[in-house]
Amino acid sequence: MSDNNIQSPEEAIQYLLEWIGENPNREGLKQTPTRLMRAYQEYFKGYVENPADYLLTHFEEVEGYREPVLLKGIPFYSHCEHHMAPIHGIVNIAYIPNKKVVGISKLARVVESFARRLQIQEKMTAQIANCIQETLEPQGVAVHISGVHHCMLGRGVNLKSTELVTSHYTGLYQNDESLKKDFKIQC
Ligand SMILES: [Zn+2]
Repeated sequence: MSDNNIQSPEEAIQYLLEWIGENPNREGLKQTPTRLMRAYQEYFKGYVENPADYLLTHFEEVEGYREPVLLKGIPFYSHCEHHMAPIHGIVNIAYIPNKKVVGISKLARVVESFARRLQIQEKMTAQIANCIQETLEPQGVAVHISGVHHCMLGRGVNLKSTELVTSHYTGLYQNDESLKKDFKIQC
């Protein structure tokens, strides 16, 4: 197969299979291009979503509640933009409401929406925090992510059991060290 007559994603995947030394026509690989395409549609479904849409429905009858709301242990599954290798890990999100609160599943939806794209963890951390800050307009947002990057497991320096930890703060969290500390302790 020559690379200049590739007409579809399936053919591109067949080409890659040949390139790594495989026979794309053997029994076990015949359906692989179609399966991989379907998997990619799921891994990268975030491109057809606007994460902010998940935060448009919120509640304002909160009896003056103004303390941080923390959602911790949100699992995510993403792919790094450098190697298209999986990243998986945990996201913790806190925000200090300014009258508006959202259903807790909505924060997890925002995470999912950004994760289902090619990512670098630093950018994803900031995107989640900024999206919540801009849409919900709370007094502050804190986002903490720990991620395992498969491009470090299976290649290069082979760093097993290494996690990348990132955090991003907006509003009150940016300058209030005790708020930050409380958040970190609770994560
Ligand atoms: Zn990578």
